[in-house]
Formats: sequence, C-alpha cells, structure tokens
Amino acid sequence: MTWEEVASGIFVKQFGSDDVNVAAIVGPAGVTVVDTGGSLTEAHDIVTDLTKRFSVPIVGAINTHAHYDHSFGNSMFAALGVPIIGHHRIPAHYDAFEGPRLHAWCAGHTRDADKDWEKVVLTPPSVLITQATTFTAGGREIKCLPITRGHTDTDLAVFVPDARIWMLGDVIEESGPPMFGSGSWPLDWPKALEELLLHVEPTDVIVPGHGSVVDREFATRQAAALNAVTTAIRDAWTAGMSIEETLATVRLPWPEWMLRSALERGFSQLSVE
Ligand SMILES: [Zn+2]
Repeated sequence: MTWEEVASGIFVKQFGSDDVNVAAIVGPAGVTVVDTGGSLTEAHDIVTDLTKRFSVPIVGAINTHAHYDHSFGNSMFAALGVPIIGHHRIPAHYDAFEGPRLHAWCAGHTRDADKDWEKVVLTPPSVLITQATTFTAGGREIKCLPITRGHTDTDLAVFVPDARIWMLGDVIEESGPPMFGSGSWPLDWPKALEELLLHVEPTDVIVPGHGSVVDREFATRQAAALNAVTTAIRDAWTAGMSIEETLATVRLPWPEWMLRSALERGFSQLSVE
C-alpha cells in the first residue's frame, strides 16, 4: 500500500496490524504526521516511509487521542526532536489506562505477540492543547480542536482549512463499529460528535481512525448509531436491568464484548450521577 492523496497535499496510509490511518499534511517546508503508530517498529516504518515519499523534513506530529495504536510511536518522534501535539488530558489518560495496559502487556498477559511492547516508552505530547488552536507547520495552516469527551476524553480534531479535511481518530471508524475501549464515555459520545459536526461542511473530507475516508453524512449516521447505544444504556439502567440481562435483549450492530464494555462504562457513570 502507498500513500493515498485524499485531499490537496494530504496523504493517508495504513500501518501496523491494527491498520491505523496515519496522515501526512505536506507543505512546502515540511510534513506534519497525524498519529504515530502503535509501537516503535511502526513509528520507525512511518518515519522511513515519510522520508522516502516526501522530500521535506518532518516538522511535527499530532496525536488524535491517547490510545496505544495512535500514540505509542511518540518516543521515536521525540528522539528526532519533532514536537508532538496532543490533547491536554493525554498524560492523565496514560496514568489511568494506557500505562497499566502497557504494563500488563509487557508482563505477557496479551495475545498480541507481534508488538514490541517492551520497547515502548510512554511519551506524552510536548505541546498540550486545551482549546481550539491554529498554527502553521511546514507552510500549512492546521487547526487542532479538542472534542468533548466521547471515544476518550483525549480526542482532538485535526483540521486543514485550505483542503477542508478533518482527521478525527477513532471518534469515527469506517472499517468496523466504533470501539468502546479504555476510557470511553458512551453516554457523551453522540453529543460530542454532533457538536463537532456543526463545524463540518457536507463536502468536507473526514479521515477516520481506521478504514476509508468518509463524509459528514457517514459521520451523522454513526452519531445516530452511537445514540442508539446511549439510549439502550440509559433505558436498561432506568429499568434496573443487569449488564447480562441487557446484553441478552438489546439488538445493536456491535460485537457483544464491545457492548459489554460500553454498558460497564455507562452504568458506572450513571451510578455516580
Ligand atoms: Zn484506533
């Protein structure tokens, strides 16, 4: 697979066994990479590939969120002196979720034998974003917009105004149902996405965290699907149903293990409301 140009001067390529979408924002003076891969090996592949394909230096890296497949390659970019930009809550998310996960994976409680977990050095972004921020990198204007908590509480929308393209990480997924994983907020996700979509034009291009590029219509449908999960969680909670009872009755297009994770997260949130 090669870098596919999905908007003017914006290229996407999938890396690693998780097929994570890595984007290259190419300007006259440099390239900014969006997401850094799930391991040092993947990050090394990304750097080698960027250098081979684009004859400009790597001037920046951005994390769409804290999850391992999008940020565990950070240390490679830090070692090259490349500034890494990300949501201000990534350090806290690392402490609560990705750090303990990495620890467990290194201890061998994992099926992912293809990952070099021991070589991963958790490296939070060097530039933490707390509000909508526009900057120029390599001659391209880039806007980073923190998204209200949903897929995680570290989601960052990356927008390139001159190409009308959005890189949204796993707030949107195309290759499968969006994932309720570590640190997700299933009760808040649909609203967060709907709020974000107010900024998106019908002809804008959206790069999901995994899968092919989509448009606003696709994202609107995904917001509605996520809303069905939120409603199911709230209804089950109100009816006093257990997670097992809910799983036995709901009909939603998600695998059971993901719905279980969504229900666990949703119920624990409702229990303190
Ligand atoms: Zn992902």
